[in-house]
Amino acid sequence: MTFHKNLIDGEWIGESKVPNINPSDTNDVVGEYASAGLEEAKAAIAAAKAASHSWARSGILERHAILRKTADEIMARKEELGRLLSREEGKTLAEGIGETIRAGQIFDFFAGEALRLVGEIIPSVRPGIGVEITREPVGVVGIITPWNFPIAIPAWKIAPALCYGNTIVFKPAELVPGCSWAIVDILHRAGLPKGVLNLVMGKGSIVGQAMLDSPDINAITFTGSVGTGKRVAAASIEHNRKFQLEMGGKNPFVVLDDADLSVAVESAVNSSFFSTGQRCTASSRLIVTDGIHDKFVAAMTERLKGLVVDDALKPGTHIGPVVDATQLKQDMDYIEIGRQEGAKIAFGGERLDRETPGFYLQPTLFTEATNAMRISREEIFGPVASVIRVKDYEEALAVANDTPFGLSSGIATTSLKHATHFKRNAEAGMVMVNLPTAGVDFHVPFGGRKGSSYGPREQGKYAAEFYTVVKTAYTQA
Ligand code: NAD
Repeated sequence: MTFHKNLIDGEWIGESKVPNINPSDTNDVVGEYASAGLEEAKAAIAAAKAASHSWARSGILERHAILRKTADEIMARKEELGRLLSREEGKTLAEGIGETIRAGQIFDFFAGEALRLVGEIIPSVRPGIGVEITREPVGVVGIITPWNFPIAIPAWKIAPALCYGNTIVFKPAELVPGCSWAIVDILHRAGLPKGVLNLVMGKGSIVGQAMLDSPDINAITFTGSVGTGKRVAAASIEHNRKFQLEMGGKNPFVVLDDADLSVAVESAVNSSFFSTGQRCTASSRLIVTDGIHDKFVAAMTERLKGLVVDDALKPGTHIGPVVDATQLKQDMDYIEIGRQEGAKIAFGGERLDRETPGFYLQPTLFTEATNAMRISREEIFGPVASVIRVKDYEEALAVANDTPFGLSSGIATTSLKHATHFKRNAEAGMVMVNLPTAGVDFHVPFGGRKGSSYGPREQGKYAAEFYTVVKTAYTQA
């Protein structure tokens, strides 16, 4: 079996091996991956620091060429990498390939951005003086990623970090090292100088913590849970470093009486259950007005009956397994909590056995839920959603916004008035009208508000805000 090592200062190193297990078939070992200790983490940080000065001064054509080559290889290998993704994370093959294409598009976008760096020249208020405003790299960027988008999230952090001239210490999630290793390998072969990109697979409590504790990391971009995000924030303030957090969600999807029922059902099924509900933008609160409530629940139940839960790589599978035993237990615990709180199961709620041993769970729909229940307030992060009945649009909007989170928010309606009002008043970073709450473009800003996010937006041109520092220079001619 191939042993995939960490990349530190341009060398592949590592001794301690961890198996990467397929959640669709726990007998299937995807590969063996290194798990770094504290000394390797420190070596990676030192290498990124040492490479920082010269990479910051690298030519834009060199950065463009490396990002472009990476994009091309990811696209050319989309089937193989998509398969690897689905095998290690459990989303369906179509979703795995789609996410891989997304990663390619992101590298392509930032390859272009490297050639479009701009500044401003403006007159000073003092005659005879010119002012230049430019963006410079931040320095060493620490990248910490979660397991649920094994290739897209690393791509949307690594690509802009390199584009704007930063060096990187990258720690992927323990559960899905495969795709991270693959894109680091591609970037390394594409010609990145040694030390510019360092991969340190390993435990959050060791490698991640070493990154948080290091004064030599100038910025940390983090996607993951609220608990870990708060640690990143506290440590970053201690070290006076820049940080960016993308965390949980409890995204609402509102269905109004005037909605097109099939648009509402397709959007809700996609939002709540595709990718096994393991998306930060998934909707777990379906807020439905009285007049359409019963029709919506009946149509949802019918639709859920037709969804195939099985091995992620099997043709015909609509929903793959939950990512691991811990996440499955969390989902089952919340299903029990929902029952005890008085919500009723309209569909699902049970584990499923398939040909291979895996973490299979029925898509689960609760009805008669209230927004005060724990299942409506806490992130479950599985294929579990609740229908909350409301009397009208005004109550729906109030319930939608009554949450500590604010990542994505959706509405199904044919009313221009309500759609417009919702776009303006939803307390979320992203608003979707007659579309699922999940599923975004790669060239526009991504992020949330309230308890979901902190710091500048990711992706598109807006990424420059995090990955650069602004300099204002005055010249008297
Ligand atoms: P997690 O917080 O457990 O882990 C995220 C990363 O942090 C992992 O790489 C982990 O190893 C690392 N980590 C753990 N302890 C650490 C420490 N002490 N110091 C530094 N790093 C440490 O999250 P997860 O379970 O991998 O991901 C699921 C969560 O991610 C969900 O809450 C989901 O909503 C969120 N998420 C958010 C977005 C978004 O953009 N808002 C996108 C995807 C996932």
